[in-house]
Amino acid sequence: MAEFKGGCLCGAVRYASTAEPAFMANCHCDDCRKSSAAGHMSLIGLPKDQVEFSGAMSEYQVTADSGASISHHFCPSCWSQVYTASSSTPVNAHIVAATLDDLSAFSPQAVVFASKAAPWDRPFEGVPHFDKMPPIG
Ligand SMILES: [Zn+2]
Ligand SMILES: [Zn+2]
Repeated sequence: MAEFKGGCLCGAVRYASTAEPAFMANCHCDDCRKSSAAGHMSLIGLPKDQVEFSGAMSEYQVTADSGASISHHFCPSCWSQVYTASSSTPVNAHIVAATLDDLSAFSPQAVVFASKAAPWDRPFEGVPHFDKMPPIG
């Protein structure tokens, strides 16, 4: 069984889950790029009620192009982004794979918003690329 365990930079926020991921993808959308302050976010869609979170988080909400409300959840001490959630799929928490203890637990199955990728952060090869968000997670 896969195990997803990790936390923020300072360790105040931790999470763990053994749930089956709904998806694992790299996302190059504007929200992921700006909120992570990196080229893209690698996200693991897990059923939120099967993820054990510890530590308080701060939340920032933004409306996506699709009209969905996206919430970004950060550690209020070190400001690592731990997960995002979307009003279009409220059952899932999108865990930020960069916060995993074991980075090999994540392997991207798709690249979304590939058309938005920065010239210096090329989309991961060998998996399907989508110009927008496909109907996943
Ligand atoms: Zn922290
Ligand atoms: Zn995104």
